[in-house]
Amino acid sequence: RYFSDTPITGTSVTLQGNEAHHLLHVMRAKPGTELTVFDGQGGEWSAVVVRLGRTEVELALGEHDPIERETAFEITLAVPLPKGDRQRWLIEKAVELGVARLLPLTTERSTKSAAEAPAKLTRYVIEASKQCGRNCLMQIEQPQSWPELAASVIAPSRILAHPGSKPLSEIKSTGPVLIAIGPEGGFTDGEEAEAVENGWQVVGLGERILRIETAALALVSLWGIR
Ligand code: SAM
Repeated sequence: RYFSDTPITGTSVTLQGNEAHHLLHVMRAKPGTELTVFDGQGGEWSAVVVRLGRTEVELALGEHDPIERETAFEITLAVPLPKGDRQRWLIEKAVELGVARLLPLTTERSTKSAAEAPAKLTRYVIEASKQCGRNCLMQIEQPQSWPELAASVIAPSRILAHPGSKPLSEIKSTGPVLIAIGPEGGFTDGEEAEAVENGWQVVGLGERILRIETAALALVSLWGIR
């Protein structure tokens, strides 16, 4: 599966950059090599290599298949981004599990977002989408601070993870959801109270303290399969 960073229209498309590099130097593609291409706007195309340039590859497009592999309802994940490999891992797994939007969150105990450069984050999303078959790219939103997020009504269900709270099984609602995970130091008592005042439901994820990315992915999975 290859990604076109220009929207696909018509009967051919030219891949450049990383995607062309991969086809030219890793796959050693030849005219006639068959592949699948998507542009992140929906669906995918069967395609065949027709011309290999020095830094670009031209594809002739076959059938457009409008197939999507999204979750039944939209999941938005607000999470303080951990650093380095853990950040990359979180993004990759969030894409695989079908998160529609990821919102880097800053809270009282995590004042500065550790988000890597937008181009790098987008690359992680593209790579994971290629691997797992998603045709819509997970959106990475602008960082948001907790007070701003607490008051927003992005989704009908808003769930905040906080150790020692009631289990998710006690929450009967389903459908589109906004999930909030705290930083390494956790949400403060004030932030938790603000969540409750604003109508959020506070849930626990068992007896152990999970790292940010484990808590995020556990809750996304548990919500997604209910
Ligand atoms: N000492 C912090 C506390 O007590 O909140 C631990 C923070 S934990 C490393 C980071 C975030 O993951 C938490 O703010 C929470 O959102 C989530 N989390 C981790 N373990 C959890 C659990 N057992 N139940 C619910 N949320 C959890």
